[in-house]
Amino acid sequence: MKQLIAADAYSENVIPVRADARPTPNRTAGSIYAVFSTATLGDEEGVFQGIVTDRDISYSPHRIFADLLNPHPLAPITDDTPLTQVEDLLSGSEDALAVVDKTNTFAGVVTHTSVLKALLKRERELLMTTQELNQQIAEDRQHLALWSNRLSELHGASRTLLSVLSHTQIEDDILQSGIEALCKLLQARYGAVGLINEAGQLTHFVHTGMTDEQVKRMGHAPEGRGLLGAVIHENTAIRLDDLTTDPRSEGFPDHHPVMKSLLAVPISSLGRVYGRIYLCDKIDDSPFDNEDELLAMSFATSLCLILDNAREVQEIKRGQQHLYQLAHFDTLTGLPNRELAYDRIHQALANSRRKRTKLAILFADLDNFKHINDSLGHSAGDELLKAVALRLTQCIRESDTVARLGGDEFLILLPDIELVENIITVAKKIKDTLQPIFKINNMEIFVTISIGISVYPDDSMNIEELLRDADTAMYHAKNNGRNNFQFFTTQMNEVVQKQLRLTSLLSQALERNQFLLHYQPQVDVISGKMLGVEALIRWQSNELGPISPAEFIPAAESSGLIIAIGDWVLMSACTQGKQWLDEGLHELRMAVNMSSVQFQQPHFPARLKQILSTTGFPATLLELEITENIMMSDKNAIIAILDELKALNVKISIDDFGTGYSSLSYLKRLPIDQVKIDQSFVRDIASDPNDAAIITAIIAMTYGLNLDVIAEGVETQAQLDFLISKQCYKAQGYYFSKPVASEQIAALWHKGFKPYPSHFDSGDYHE
Ligand code: C2E
Ligand code: MG
Ligand code: MG
Repeated sequence: MKQLIAADAYSENVIPVRADARPTPNRTAGSIYAVFSTATLGDEEGVFQGIVTDRDISYSPHRIFADLLNPHPLAPITDDTPLTQVEDLLSGSEDALAVVDKTNTFAGVVTHTSVLKALLKRERELLMTTQELNQQIAEDRQHLALWSNRLSELHGASRTLLSVLSHTQIEDDILQSGIEALCKLLQARYGAVGLINEAGQLTHFVHTGMTDEQVKRMGHAPEGRGLLGAVIHENTAIRLDDLTTDPRSEGFPDHHPVMKSLLAVPISSLGRVYGRIYLCDKIDDSPFDNEDELLAMSFATSLCLILDNAREVQEIKRGQQHLYQLAHFDTLTGLPNRELAYDRIHQALANSRRKRTKLAILFADLDNFKHINDSLGHSAGDELLKAVALRLTQCIRESDTVARLGGDEFLILLPDIELVENIITVAKKIKDTLQPIFKINNMEIFVTISIGISVYPDDSMNIEELLRDADTAMYHAKNNGRNNFQFFTTQMNEVVQKQLRLTSLLSQALERNQFLLHYQPQVDVISGKMLGVEALIRWQSNELGPISPAEFIPAAESSGLIIAIGDWVLMSACTQGKQWLDEGLHELRMAVNMSSVQFQQPHFPARLKQILSTTGFPATLLELEITENIMMSDKNAIIAILDELKALNVKISIDDFGTGYSSLSYLKRLPIDQVKIDQSFVRDIASDPNDAAIITAIIAMTYGLNLDVIAEGVETQAQLDFLISKQCYKAQGYYFSKPVASEQIAALWHKGFKPYPSHFDSGDYHE
């Protein structure tokens, strides 16, 4: 600020007078008279002579001004004299000082008062400037706070994005939280992020601020033909106060919400454009400003970082996958290689140890492959190996592994084996699957295979020995004339032998009349009445001795003998049922177990109809027990058969319920009448809370579906009490009676069982 000088402090009370004039009596107190010479004529001002104060006049009121000048000799100061100096001069005797300009012309008078006034004025000015400055500072500070706020919000939004740096996939929800944060930060009504792929097609589009309704009406996301396209193609930000003024805004979808202002920024890094962000309409209707653009750009940069990272991670993953593929899979067949196979065996072994199940390793080697390779050429050999690999994979479960160890050697890993018979089944399947002739390069090739099998824990407990044993067994198979399978241990081979013998004996059992049926009562536990019986087959084999149906039925099924056997069972059960009916055992139902093979036999319903009419047994009293696993085959075909059977008026019961794969929704679709709770659940009802919970759920579910429910395998009063407490009133099991010969049924029927809750002596009726 400029220093104050005399010119800033002129007194307002100065009156110019002529030197020859006389002061008037009625003067204004405090006036100062600037005296000019009278020598000059006319209106022109005279030469400045000096000043006269009111006080001077009061001493000699009658003198002319020229005479009053005396006490104030003419010693004017210049107008640029600093005011501080003026103050010093005035502090002496002088009460007023004349001021002249550079040309020595009178300019004004300074007095104590006028200096004081000037100083006061300056102080006021200073005060005002200070106030203005303070206000400015306050505003600046506020602005700064706002910025830091926005920046920290931006960092927050960026952080959200950065926190997902490790993600390889750009998920919509990441983009979603990002655009929401940005919209909030910039106070925009709508916002959207669109990402494009290398071909320029929109791959991701997330938005905020639009209602579902608006999105639905919009139909498709903005494809970037207009403005948004320009953002991408030109890799530049676009800021518009009024969208409608830009013809490129036509590119927005027809029903895009109406918008006025737009801020669109590209998401780009190192010249590659990943997409764009656009924001529309600020909540306070102000246009987007430079600051907004900076923030949006900064946000886009963060997003880019993530996209760059994601792409990098993806590439690394792809590379890793490729390496993994190379290291673990056979390039010719695409099957797991030795490495991966061993890895899986390790895992499966650990699993088997835990679950106490068996595990089998099959070493399979094509017979005479070298010969084929040599005579037909390597490329035909390769094609054949591929075709073999394909067939092998088709005959195993998903949880099994087929690997190629090299050359014509394959390894098949069967984890989680419950019965040795299952291994035999797979080995047979492998043999059979190669039977149809291979057509390679227009040549017909006949291939057989030799298989060696080792089993954990029977043969060995560790992987190396298991592999060696399987290999040894495979050589046995080769020595045994090829095209066969051999277990490592004789004991296992005995199982195979037994199986073969069993099947052979089974095939003669029917004609040798070795089968008979036993019947087990099914009881209404409240009344103690026998409702029906379940027919259970018994085989009296002279050669094998007592053998359970659980053992020979699977053999009958895999050999196809079950069809004839099942037919015999049905015929015998219906004949017996009719006989009991004739003997007066009214309403006694007959439950017969059905094998899925028999059930799916073409014309089975017709055959059943025939049996019913031949025997004269009423269809309404017949109950067919099928297991859930039947549904593993073509569901629609099964449902069609069930419908046909229902049309005959027979009842359908799901046996061993809970052990298979049925779900509630699944059962709903089936035309069935009853669910039979498997005995494995009933066994531990009282001790295992899981089983208790399962049974409770099954019973509740059957009631919900309007189905009957019966519990099998009831052996104790405690089990029965539990079942009754859960409202299951039908039961079968040793608690009531073991399966008995047909002759005993009539007596049991007449006697009945003790009604609940009193006990009855189950010992009477045991087989
Ligand atoms: P399933 O149909 O579930 O029959 C029940 C089995 O549980 C019968 O064994 C029966 O004797 C036994 N059982 C009944 N009550 C109790 C009990 O309280 N405690 C215990 N521990 N067991 C009890 P079985 O007769 O050895 O039959 C075994 C399986 O063989 C049957 O299971 C059924 O799946 C099949 N099977 C039996 N007969 C035939 C048949 O004629 N045809 C077909 N396809 N399968 C049959
Ligand atoms: Mg049954
Ligand atoms: Mg059962």
